[in-house]
Amino acid sequence: MRAGDVVELELDDRAARVARMDWPALKTAVATCEACGLSKTRNKTVFGVGDERAEWMLVGEGPGAEEDARGEPFVGQAGRLLDSMLAAVALRRGENVYIANVLKCRPPGNRNPEPFEVAQCSPHLVRQIELIQPKLLLALGRAAAQLLLNTDASIASLRGKLFRYQGVTTIVTYHPAYLLRNLPDKSKAWEDLCFARATMKDLKAAAAPQS
Ligand code: URA
Repeated sequence: MRAGDVVELELDDRAARVARMDWPALKTAVATCEACGLSKTRNKTVFGVGDERAEWMLVGEGPGAEEDARGEPFVGQAGRLLDSMLAAVALRRGENVYIANVLKCRPPGNRNPEPFEVAQCSPHLVRQIELIQPKLLLALGRAAAQLLLNTDASIASLRGKLFRYQGVTTIVTYHPAYLLRNLPDKSKAWEDLCFARATMKDLKAAAAPQS
């Protein structure tokens, strides 16, 4: 057996253990996680926030400086934009909405997540999705889309389509931090949210008992 095989086995074992956790165990596992180097530089883990029975689940990339300081996702500038985008489609964080990230700890300097970090951390998000069982997943940006859809495709090419992640309808849009740097694309994110809202309406109509 090679060293790489041992790491793979350990990963599979951790993922299997996390896959059986209930909410309290999962929260403790994240709060005490030391599975990658980010545990050495983080201030707070950022588990996720919102309604644990939400129909909407939004997935970002990983905490930034303010999230790392406060332990809550999307509370910085990008978060304020996200909140106003949600308000535009009559949604509010915490009310039928759950927000989580691919990574639960901040990558130093807000660098992109490393594949090893995603591999170690993603079982937590996978379990959150299983426990919540949202009707709709909204992947915010590249890291979330890559993980949920197992693709390297650009956000531009994934927008406006319906995907399924473990049976959950999934829509892709730009990350709010990207929108802050690329203001003209805000109108595209607005289109995506309208598409998501219409999709949610269809999903609910399809699930309603026929009279
Ligand atoms: N960006 C993210 O992807 N997540 C956060 O929580 C904050 C900024």
